[in-house]
Amino acid sequence: MISPGAGKASSSPLMGNDSEPTIFEYSHRGRKSWSFADTDIPDIELDSIIPPQYQRQEPLELVEMSERDIVAHFTRLSQRNYAVDVGAYPLGSCTMKYNPKIFDYIATLAGVSAVHPATPASSIQGWLELMVNFETSLCEITGMAAATLQPAAGAAGEMTGLLLMRAWHNHMGQNRKKVLIPDSAHGTNPASVRLGGYEVVTVPSNSKGLVDLEVLKDLLDEDVAGIMLTNPNTLGLYEEEIAQIAKAVHEVGGLLYYDGANLNAILGVIRPGDMGFDIVHVNVHKTFATPHGGGGPGAGPVAVSEKLIPFLPGPRPVRLENDSVLKFGWQQMPSTSIGRLHSWHGNAVVIARAYGYLLANGAEGLRKVANTAVLNANWLRHRLRGIYEIPFDRPNMHEFIASIGKEKRKAGLHAMDVAKMLLEQGFHAPTINFPLIVEEALMIEPTETESPQTLEQLAQAFEQVAKQMQDSGTEIAHQAPRNTPVRRLDEARAARKLIQTWDANQTLQN
Ligand SMILES: *Cc1c(COP(=O)(O)O)cnc(C)c1O
Repeated sequence: MISPGAGKASSSPLMGNDSEPTIFEYSHRGRKSWSFADTDIPDIELDSIIPPQYQRQEPLELVEMSERDIVAHFTRLSQRNYAVDVGAYPLGSCTMKYNPKIFDYIATLAGVSAVHPATPASSIQGWLELMVNFETSLCEITGMAAATLQPAAGAAGEMTGLLLMRAWHNHMGQNRKKVLIPDSAHGTNPASVRLGGYEVVTVPSNSKGLVDLEVLKDLLDEDVAGIMLTNPNTLGLYEEEIAQIAKAVHEVGGLLYYDGANLNAILGVIRPGDMGFDIVHVNVHKTFATPHGGGGPGAGPVAVSEKLIPFLPGPRPVRLENDSVLKFGWQQMPSTSIGRLHSWHGNAVVIARAYGYLLANGAEGLRKVANTAVLNANWLRHRLRGIYEIPFDRPNMHEFIASIGKEKRKAGLHAMDVAKMLLEQGFHAPTINFPLIVEEALMIEPTETESPQTLEQLAQAFEQVAKQMQDSGTEIAHQAPRNTPVRRLDEARAARKLIQTWDANQTLQN
C-alpha cells in the first residue's frame, strides 16, 4: 500500500502478496448477500412472459458471495490502489482535484437520485430548475448563449460539437471537409473530427509552444469547417494570439470549437465566448469536482453561441414563460436539432454534483479556484527548475511540462521511469508522453486542492527521483516501483499475451 509522502512505505503482509484472488474465486454455491422482502405480488409463469425457446437453458454463472466477503474483497482492492482521496495526483490534462464529499451527499438525496427520468415535469420542478440553473451558470462561465447537458463525457461533447458544426454548415448550404487541430491537441480531438466525418489538418506549434498564426492562415480556406483549440493549450500555455486566430477562422466562414475539458485555469477570469469561440464543451468531471477515472461517470455539456441554438440536442429543460401552473418544462426538439446524444437527460446526477460545486463556490470562489490552480502550478514549476528540464520555462497556467529528453539521450531513461519512481515515493505519477510535441514529456498539474505542505512534499519526491536517476542511472529506475502491491508491468505483454487468471471451469465447481 502506498501512503502519500511516506517515502518507502513498507507493505503489510496482506498487501505484499500480488495475488488477491478474483471475485469468482470467492464464489461458493448458495452464499448470498441479498434478501427480498416477502410481497403479496403473485408469482407469474415465466413461460407466459418469455417464450421457452428464448429462455436460457444453463444457469447464469454469477458470483455467489456473502456480504462480508464482498466488502472484504473490495476494501482490500481499494487499499491497493492509489486514489485522489489518498494524496496528490498531479495528472496533467486529466485534472484529478479532490472532490468534496458533500457533493456525493447531494447525489444520494432521494429527490436527486431516486427519480425516474420519465417522471412528468409537474412532479420534478426542482430537478428541472437545477438543470436550467446549471445551464445558465455554464453559459455565464463560458460566455455562451445556451447549452445541452446530454453528452456523457468530454469526447462525447467533442462529437456533439462537431455534429453542431456540420449542422451549421449544412444549414448554410455548404459541405466543408476539414477541421484544423494544433499538434499539441488531446488525442480525443482528432478522433472526434474523424467521427464527425471530417478530415484532420494539423497546425504546427511555433517555438513558443503556441499556434503558428502565419501557418494557420495558410491552411485556412473555404473548405475548413472550423478549428478545435484548448486555451490554455496542453502545454499549459495561453494562446496569446487567440483574437487573431478567431478572426482569421471566422473570415473564411469557419467555427471555433473550445475543448474545455479543463477550465481550471480560467474559471471566472476569462471566457471562451469572449475569445471568439462558438462551441465549448466542459468536463464537469475535471473542472467541477465530480469523481472520475474509475470513480464515477462524467458529463461533458456543450455550450454554444446564439446562432447554433437551433441545432442543439433536445429535448432541453427550460423555464416556461407562458404556463400558469408550471415554472419549468421541456422544450421539444426543433426539426433543425442534431438529435439526442444520450438517453433521457444525460448523466443527470453528475450534473447535480457539479451544480452543488458551483453554488458552494459562488462566483468569487470559482475565481479563487482558478487563481490557486495557476499559482500552485507556477510554484511547482519554479521549485523544480534546475532539477528537471522545463522546455517552456515561463509563466504557465494550471499545468506545465517537464522533459526527460536529456536523461534519455544520456542514460536511456524515460518519462515512464520517472512515473514509476514517483509511485515509490508515495505519489501518483503525472501524465507522461503527452503532449506529443515534447520528448519524454511529464505533464504536471498539481490542482488548487493541494496545500503548500503537500506541494512541497511532492516537489521533494520529484527531487528524490531526479537524484536517484543521477546517482544510479537505469539501475533503480528500470526496477521501479519496488514497494507497491503490483511491481513494474510489461505493458506490451499485458496486451499481446493476455493471461486470464480466472477460468470458469476450474473455479465454479466448488
Ligand atoms: C480529458 C480530456 C478530454 C476528453 O474528456 P473525456 O471526458 O475523458 O472524454 C478532451 N480534451 C482534453 C484536453 C482533456 O484533458
